Amino acid sequence: MKKYFLPLGVLGIFMTIAVTLWLTQDNIFYLFNFSYIGISIFFGIFLYIKKYKYARRVAQLLVGLYMLVYLGFICGENMQIEGFWYYLFTGVFEAATIHYAVAKIFGPLLFGRGWCGYACWTAMVLDFLPYKVPKTPRKKIGWIRYITFAISLIFVSVLFLAHIGNIERIMFWAFIIGNAIYYIVGIILAFVFKDNRAFCKYICPITIFLKPMSYFSLLRIKCDKSKCVSCGKCKNVCPMEVDVTDNSRKRKNGTECILCFECVKNCPRDAL
Ligand code: SF4
Ligand code: SF4
Ligand code: SF4
Repeated sequence: MKKYFLPLGVLGIFMTIAVTLWLTQDNIFYLFNFSYIGISIFFGIFLYIKKYKYARRVAQLLVGLYMLVYLGFICGENMQIEGFWYYLFTGVFEAATIHYAVAKIFGPLLFGRGWCGYACWTAMVLDFLPYKVPKTPRKKIGWIRYITFAISLIFVSVLFLAHIGNIERIMFWAFIIGNAIYYIVGIILAFVFKDNRAFCKYICPITIFLKPMSYFSLLRIKCDKSKCVSCGKCKNVCPMEVDVTDNSRKRKNGTECILCFECVKNCPRDAL
């Protein structure tokens, strides 16, 4: 029963958010939206416990496709970072601002970068590429993320300062074009650096929020040193090059753990 605490806990968090937002915002959409996401992630972790090989990918597709196709393409909500700035500047707490608050700003205090492992529609595609574990050493180009972050902020600021009309329509097209660029750049980088997650490591602007918040994450993989035999298997299978045998919060690439559990699955001593 103990092994079900994690999925049930995650489901409980999402159901609490769903009911709270439904009642406080007087909008039943939030009940549907966050229940669906919570159940999808619960299902993914449940399949993982049942040792289904593609458990995480199931959750990723269920949440990622829902957000990309239904919320993005059909409902016209821009959930990318420019959509967050847009809703923030208009001063309303809905759509992308709620999404960012839950998944990318305050949520990571509880579940770290679970978003990156189980829900992101960009990584949902990148994870299908052949380089699940990086085949080349990490590059020192993480500063690019600050540029993409600044570009998104400047882009939306200019739209507001110049009093451009019909910004909502522009946001819709920014979502389509922005996603296309993310996919193209992400796929090219994955092949150039032989690393599916190169886009996450160097380009993604959302990591500006995700990394500092997940540093304090309640949920994190820990190593039982009394069982560990320093075989190094955990590090060899980690897509984010986390030094998971170091339990300190300052461990190497610690703010990049996407909670994929590949290290846990591959540890011969059940030390993680
Ligand atoms: S780092 Fe960015 S692109 Fe990668 S999974 Fe996280 S949010 Fe998605
Ligand atoms: S795979 Fe397990 S035993 Fe091997 S180094 Fe990692 S934690 Fe230790
Ligand atoms: S392999 Fe382990 S340390 Fe690496 S990202 Fe996945 S869960 Fe985190």
